[in-house]
Amino acid sequence: MLDLWYSEYHTDDVKFSIKTTRHLYSEQTPFQKIDFFESETYGTFFTIDGLVMVTQRDEFAYHDMICHVPMAVNPDIKRVLIIGGGDGGTAREVCRYKGVTHIDLVDIDERVVRLCQKYLPQTACALDRDERISMHFMDGFKFVKEAPDGAYDLILVDSTDPIGPGEGLFTMEFYENCYRALSDCGILINQHESPFYDNYNHEMLRAHAKIKRTFPIAKVYQFHMPTYPSGLWLFGFASKKLDPIADFKRERWEALGLKTKYYNTDLHCAAFALPTYVKEKLDNVR
Ligand code: SAM
Repeated sequence: MLDLWYSEYHTDDVKFSIKTTRHLYSEQTPFQKIDFFESETYGTFFTIDGLVMVTQRDEFAYHDMICHVPMAVNPDIKRVLIIGGGDGGTAREVCRYKGVTHIDLVDIDERVVRLCQKYLPQTACALDRDERISMHFMDGFKFVKEAPDGAYDLILVDSTDPIGPGEGLFTMEFYENCYRALSDCGILINQHESPFYDNYNHEMLRAHAKIKRTFPIAKVYQFHMPTYPSGLWLFGFASKKLDPIADFKRERWEALGLKTKYYNTDLHCAAFALPTYVKEKLDNVR
């Protein structure tokens, strides 16, 4: 029996492979190529332009950490903007907060949403069930540019890497528009790449330099993401005045009684403690 392997180059000479049991579906959309696979260890997973986006096995780590860290700093968050996140996992976690009144989900490619609703209901389950979600299929860069001042308490940038359609979501103008579209207690969380391999490290530093110039508070936190390059992945936490640790509402969050598989209130603080080599890179970035 022929073994079929999905392989992704993490660098020119480092490859990550998953043995697949089925190649479920493939589609070239006007924006990107989307492929769905089945595997023993990671369950169903999908790739965009050959890069792993979401797997059934480890999506909990990413979606816990993009959502619960900011929500535990400001449990009064009501209006949320999710940019990207077409798989629905981020929206699923945000919907668990009864205090959230409205979620705009802006993904450039409607096909990601529709295909995840078909092949990955584990993450897409809230998208057509929670009336607080309003979906917009357009460029997140343009959506934020046109958003009113102070329109959101939380912006979650759950985008692909800064190549192809995701590139605009890593620009100074984008971050400045996010700043303007956030309320006074507003928080921006962005997919902040990774420090380990040079190509991803370069993008991490470029994003951090711009966010540091735009927001008075600009921190970075880490989590373990097995299927992303090197497994060490980062989110950026930026805000106008809330510090992720000094303003952390541990008791209020715990009183919500939310069951999580990756996030917990001890990890909330620990995630902002970074390896020395990462701290030095981020502290020195201009
Ligand atoms: N968690 C994944 C990661 O970290 O790579 C990303 C999840 S989600 C699949 C990424 C989404 O970003 C895709 O659905 C893609 O269509 C969307 N996207 C890319 N560029 C975009 C843009 N300029 N505006 C809105 N959505 C965009």
